[in-house]
Amino acid sequence: MVRASARAGAAVLALMLLASAGGCGEGAARADREAPPAHGQEGRFAAPPARSLERYADELRRSYAARVTAARRWGLEKVPLLPPAPPARKPKVTTREGFEVDGHAEHGLPPVFTTVPTERKVVFLTIDDGAEKDPAFLRMMSELNIPYSAFLSDYVVKDDYDYFRRMRDRGATLNNHTLHHRVLPHLSYAAQKREICGMQDVVQKRFGTRPKLFRPPYGEYDRDTLRAAKACGIEAVPLWNAEVYVDRWEYREWDRDIHPGDIVLTHFRGKRNWDGTMSDMVRRFLKLVTDKGYAVARLEDYL
Ligand SMILES: [Zn+2]
Repeated sequence: MVRASARAGAAVLALMLLASAGGCGEGAARADREAPPAHGQEGRFAAPPARSLERYADELRRSYAARVTAARRWGLEKVPLLPPAPPARKPKVTTREGFEVDGHAEHGLPPVFTTVPTERKVVFLTIDDGAEKDPAFLRMMSELNIPYSAFLSDYVVKDDYDYFRRMRDRGATLNNHTLHHRVLPHLSYAAQKREICGMQDVVQKRFGTRPKLFRPPYGEYDRDTLRAAKACGIEAVPLWNAEVYVDRWEYREWDRDIHPGDIVLTHFRGKRNWDGTMSDMVRRFLKLVTDKGYAVARLEDYL
């Protein structure tokens, strides 16, 4: 576990160094144009000036090689693309048009959005609720080194907090999806606040961090929801622009496609809930994303 995360860290460093080795100090604009960094272009990186850079490039090659092996092991047709290094400057995220509540900006309520503004060909995987606790899913995501963010609801998580501790230890961020998964706008302000702040307390107590991100169940919210979320320390409310199931995709946009910066939703579900495993769902997700030339990046790196 420790080794895996050290390797991931080295790969990120290598990517950052390689991006700046291209001659652009900032790196981000260039990465925007050229993302994702490239398989088969390792030769370009083969003769860096400094020995340390050479070592990092070597780490990057190893990281890609590990992904090739893992892709084969987990039955992927194509090797998932490596994401560009995290942006040096985070994009300014604002509420999507039509998703505002009264007084949204005036009261500094957290932004509600379905896509992160970026030109990079990246999407973000977010996984909700927490009912299915499949150990193979944790192994698959670690071995492929695919980032994702979990939005947990205590009523389905509490029978096995340890599963989500292992998820956290493997690098996933654990975020807030309320205590009991109610339709929040049906509740009073005080009850909404209990649902959101209560989950903040659970995540802090069980996993040691206090979430900055919150997603309302069913994507349903009103002004009280956002006021309560803000009072509980929430900074952003990512919804989703596409949803992947074990057997299909569903899209918010008329073009039925994914776009740079799109947030993709799925759920912790298994054979009891749909016709396949978490791994089957991940294969469907990665197939479309990779076929369309996108990499999977970490949402928190962009917020
Ligand atoms: Zn949910």
